Amino acid sequence: MAMVNQYVPGREGDLDPRDIELIRRRQKLLGPAYRLFYEQPLHIVRGEGVWLYDRDGKAYLDVYNNVASVGHCHPHVVEALSKQAAVLNTHTRYLHETIVDYAEKLLAKFPPALQHVMFTCTGSEANDLAIRIARSYTRGKGVIVTKLAYHGLTIAISELSPSLGDYVERGEHVRLVPAPDTYRIEGDVGAAFAAGVKQAIADMQAKGIQPCALLVDGIFSSDGVFPGEPGFLKEAVAAIRAAGGIFIADEVQPGFARVGPQWWGFARHDLVPDMVTIGKPMGNGHPIAAAIMQPHIVAEFGAKSRYFNTFGGNPVSCAVGRAVLEVIEAEGLAENAGKVGAYMLDGLNKLAQKHEIIGDVRGAGLFLGLEFVKDRKTKEPLAVAATHVVNDLRRRRVLISATGPGANVLKIRPPLVFTQEHADIFLDAMEKAVASFKG
Ligand code: PMP
Repeated sequence: MAMVNQYVPGREGDLDPRDIELIRRRQKLLGPAYRLFYEQPLHIVRGEGVWLYDRDGKAYLDVYNNVASVGHCHPHVVEALSKQAAVLNTHTRYLHETIVDYAEKLLAKFPPALQHVMFTCTGSEANDLAIRIARSYTRGKGVIVTKLAYHGLTIAISELSPSLGDYVERGEHVRLVPAPDTYRIEGDVGAAFAAGVKQAIADMQAKGIQPCALLVDGIFSSDGVFPGEPGFLKEAVAAIRAAGGIFIADEVQPGFARVGPQWWGFARHDLVPDMVTIGKPMGNGHPIAAAIMQPHIVAEFGAKSRYFNTFGGNPVSCAVGRAVLEVIEAEGLAENAGKVGAYMLDGLNKLAQKHEIIGDVRGAGLFLGLEFVKDRKTKEPLAVAATHVVNDLRRRRVLISATGPGANVLKIRPPLVFTQEHADIFLDAMEKAVASFKG
């Protein structure tokens, strides 16, 4: 896999000497596995709404962070957190009104069949729990994910996260299927995606592996951002269910109105998943995540195995989660994501008309992808253009990143409080950044 938006140690350029020293200490203390964004790493000290500030007070437009989804340090969320933290923080083994109240409000955002929520602290934990429960329900082990999926970092889930690289072991029960590449697949994307899933199922069965689950990120973020036409996932979901497996919608990326006006990625496909996992924007930066499921899926698991997660679903986390829901509702952020997302898509499409190297522009709500190619006919990825634009925008104080197997897809994913005025700042900077690429 090509390298995506990374600082290369030793290439400091004209970085502030204080930051060079901080990088040195960080590397010494955190070890070799961490990565920093950008050729010139960014040192930010404060956030507010869609803006991030460095220590000199310079403002950067955040067009990337989907965790601080209702805006950095939203006062309503901060207040809910500090109020509850000042009163009590325990865990789910005591009765607490806020835990139940939040569960009720959260589940009300899902189709009625999804009736239980089990709280965790991270998306990885939510997926790990979902797979454990899926194994217990289906008695199967075989899991299907896309070729460059990312679902998390535990041993079980890193095996299902090929975007971590080939170094990470994959286990004989895992099958990778091609992503629904709407730019390259000619014809019916849903049928092509389902064909991959059916082949994976047949291959498992031939080796005596019972299918357990199809686990997909509804926006195919690490595969290169492929929202696709609403409904295209249906055929693949029907295939896994027909084989005795279940459909787990990983909503860590598309969830909580990112693909607005819909609240969930699966809602775009008119599907009701057997299980859903959520995280990232759920706490606007506070670590809270969850697995949500239909009751029959967890009935036996619950009877035979207890579930306790020390921090998952604690009263502070639940107060925060509830405040996030309130902000999305009160500020109409799902509608805003639809409206401003469409405006940005339109602006990027206009830019594509002027630049041959922009092969494709795609998106749902406020999750957009823009693909650079060497040639519109061959569609060969042009990673250097993505690297140039990401770093040029950073110099213009606009933050995005890149993704995809060819590292050539811009990942554009601002907080949901992004307005048309912010979009104009972004589009203007994009125009200059793309024009400054000299191949
Ligand atoms: N699923 C998806 C689709 C993700 O993008 C991520 C995080 N990038 C995760 C799961 C894992 O979440 P976490 O980092 O909170 O463990």
